[in-house]
Amino acid sequence: TAASGGGLVAYADSAAESAPDPSQDAPRKKVVVLGTGWAGTSFLKNLDCSRYEVKVISPRNYFAFTPLLPSVTCGTVEPRSIIEPKNKDVTFCEAECFKIDANRKTVHCRSAVGTNLDGNGDFMLDYDYLVVALGATVSTFNTPGVLEHCCFLKEVEDAQKIRKGVIDCFEKASLPNISEEEKRKILHFVVIGGGPTGVEFAAEMHDFLVEDLVKLYPAIQDLVKITIIQSAEHILTMFDERIASFAEQKFKRDGIEVCTGFRVIKVSDDLITMKRKSDGEELSVPYGMAVWSAGIGTRPVVMDFMQQIGQTNRRALATNEWLRVRECEGVYAIGDCATVSQRKIMDDISTVFKMADKDNSGTLTLKEINGVLDDICIRYPQVELYMKSMHMLDIADLIKGAVGDSHKESMVVDIEEFKKALRHVDSQVKNAPATAQVAAQQGQYLAQCFNKMEKCREEPEGPLRMAGGSGRHFFRPFRYKHFGQFAPLGGEQAAAELPGDWVSMGHSTQWLWYSVYASKQVSWRTRVLVVSDWTRRFIFGRDSSR
Ligand code: FAD
Ligand code: MG
Ligand code: MG
Ligand code: MG
Ligand code: MG
Repeated sequence: TAASGGGLVAYADSAAESAPDPSQDAPRKKVVVLGTGWAGTSFLKNLDCSRYEVKVISPRNYFAFTPLLPSVTCGTVEPRSIIEPKNKDVTFCEAECFKIDANRKTVHCRSAVGTNLDGNGDFMLDYDYLVVALGATVSTFNTPGVLEHCCFLKEVEDAQKIRKGVIDCFEKASLPNISEEEKRKILHFVVIGGGPTGVEFAAEMHDFLVEDLVKLYPAIQDLVKITIIQSAEHILTMFDERIASFAEQKFKRDGIEVCTGFRVIKVSDDLITMKRKSDGEELSVPYGMAVWSAGIGTRPVVMDFMQQIGQTNRRALATNEWLRVRECEGVYAIGDCATVSQRKIMDDISTVFKMADKDNSGTLTLKEINGVLDDICIRYPQVELYMKSMHMLDIADLIKGAVGDSHKESMVVDIEEFKKALRHVDSQVKNAPATAQVAAQQGQYLAQCFNKMEKCREEPEGPLRMAGGSGRHFFRPFRYKHFGQFAPLGGEQAAAELPGDWVSMGHSTQWLWYSVYASKQVSWRTRVLVVSDWTRRFIFGRDSSR
């Protein structure tokens, strides 16, 4: 990394917060963590809990490995195998936070287990630092009937409910005196939303059907139908097109109907009404069970907090690149409830220019620009992304494009030319997706910052002034590293998209999936349980009792 000897941009935003003064005998700072999902758990796992007084609030006293939830719906994996009990080094309260009061630095909670002596279970906690890791909730887009009639797939209880519901449908359809038409209706399983979760659930359902249920319910197997309703033109839109079309073709062969370009507008107890987006035509289909996995929304407590701090009209809490909530001292937000709002280089362009102009000449030489390039790329990752997207080898190409056909080595740019060269760069700012991978990396990053906070009293979260002998530590802004993503498609086949535009599909990818998801388990206990569930399924099939 370039050591630029102290003169780098004073990033107004990140330097604004003054560091705590942790003298030796001061009491430990209080950290309150809201949520024990991917983000909260990863934070706690990496935090040096001896440095802080840590309290954790969550209505569930366990962590759930969400990527395996679809497997729980059909009994491929048991619910107990994907949950991890709470951490022993911290104080845990099984409660729900219903208000964050940033002015008083307190959170208001309601016990999930019972009531205290006052007759209600409400209590208050103060914090020095608050870590908001509350995740997201499902969004029904206010579609009538969805809350009442659809199942969701967000929590372990949801997966268990679906599992019971599927078997109920089969039992119901096996009763005597039921017409064939009625049976077809009961055995119509509809998945709303063609994202990874919906697709995986449909695939899992299909496998359960052809591998296990046909043997138990031979009389009704031909009446079963699985449908995916998707509003976009293809399913799995967040994946490479090759994966989407592979999945669509596989589903076609399997007899899973994929209705793309339809938006569900109403759900009643036995009909799903949808509208074709191209011509507005409405269509109603009878169904037995519907699973809604079409979108994520904001939790009420997060919404309320955003209103308090003036972040309105947003879906998630905006943080700076060090994951601190904007305009809110001591509060950090990670995971699905948060998005990093990356600072635009054009907003800081004059400062960046001055910083690069070491000799105060009012112009920059290539050497001067190269001297700060590394720091710029760390602070504004969009610069690197932009150069990559334009297939540029170095910054000289970028500048040359703006100033015309000058000779690379001897070129000199003024502020206007510098602005012109960088004017499109901010278009490359990207939001990280709402995934476990992002949440876990953010939790880990923030814990590392907390572990080192004492060592950098002056600027706890930046700016990027390099240590260069001063003995200070600085944190680089958080940067998400994408390791690729999987889409299990059933029938021992999966698709994967890995970094570097690498796509792989088929049976061998499913084995890769097994090994990655086994290794990603947070403990040896769940790893052993999950692998033995898979083995049991291979040998004996799934358990279809309730
Ligand atoms: P969560 O994990 O949702 O955690 C939120 C926590 O907050 C929970 O502990 C909850 O109990 C707690 N909480 C909620 N309300 C309150 C309250 N009021 N007070 C206190 N605590 C509260 N991502 C991937 O990368 N790969 C996958 O394969 C994948 N598969 C998925 C499959 C399914 C079925 C689902 C639902 C999600 C999947 N995801 C996957 C997405 C991933 O689960 C989320 O991105 C991730 O859980 C986000 O982590 P989080 O900590 O922000 O939120
Ligand atoms: Mg969490
Ligand atoms: Mg989780
Ligand atoms: Mg997020
Ligand atoms: Mg100069």
